[in-house]
Amino acid sequence: MRRKMAAGNWKMNGTAEALGEVDKLLAAHPAPSCDVLICPPATLLHRLSDRLQGSAVRAGGQDCHAAETGAHTGDVSAAMLRDAGATHVILGHSERRSDHGEADDTVRAKTEAALGADLVAIVCVGETEAQRDAGETLGVISTQLKGSIPDGASGETLVVAYEPVWAIGTGRTPTLDQIAEVHDAIRAELSERFGAEAADAVRLLYGGSVKPANAEEIFGVSNVDGALVGGASLKADDFGGIIAAL
Ligand code: 13P
Repeated sequence: MRRKMAAGNWKMNGTAEALGEVDKLLAAHPAPSCDVLICPPATLLHRLSDRLQGSAVRAGGQDCHAAETGAHTGDVSAAMLRDAGATHVILGHSERRSDHGEADDTVRAKTEAALGADLVAIVCVGETEAQRDAGETLGVISTQLKGSIPDGASGETLVVAYEPVWAIGTGRTPTLDQIAEVHDAIRAELSERFGAEAADAVRLLYGGSVKPANAEEIFGVSNVDGALVGGASLKADDFGGIIAAL
């Protein structure tokens, strides 16, 4: 049985005062029945992980560099995230792919670095609206999975997030059948590559306009093991509502 997971991606939002929402969340959900992860901006990671001491909630990064150290101004390595208290890192988010030109081979190198630093990698895949309209969704997802996930990944070290680009921050979501189709295809692709047993242990998150009002029906979809939540993870009440739906 895969344990469900609610992961919050704060993106480029939050200064120290945002930690007040974390206190609220911890007070409202002291013993969540699923894994809960918060990925704040790198500047807050240390303070957040201090705040989470003694709780069941974990902290994660939103990206890391593929190299361990070196002349990479502005970048953060996987070991640095680990040192700041992270247990997970989001990699290959569509905003990294579009804002920073990250291709699958970059995401794969970063994922290898994350696994090497003992972080669980949450690898994101997803089609654009034009790709969906052209009937290319499953092909795009398959290519991204093949290119972004390194051979050494396993159910303990890998989480895959399906985030249709057109559903991120738009209030639009795919139909439940569309989510099921992609999640089933991801499971099948992982199974072909890593074998059924290993693939079965990988959690598949849906991301894109998840909120308390639609969480329950999305979590009822086959092969959906939780959510990667953007906007609604910033407020304790909203994120708490999603956690409660899992
Ligand atoms: P929203 O939940 O704001 O649509 O963002 C989803 C996302 O990109 C999470 O990584």
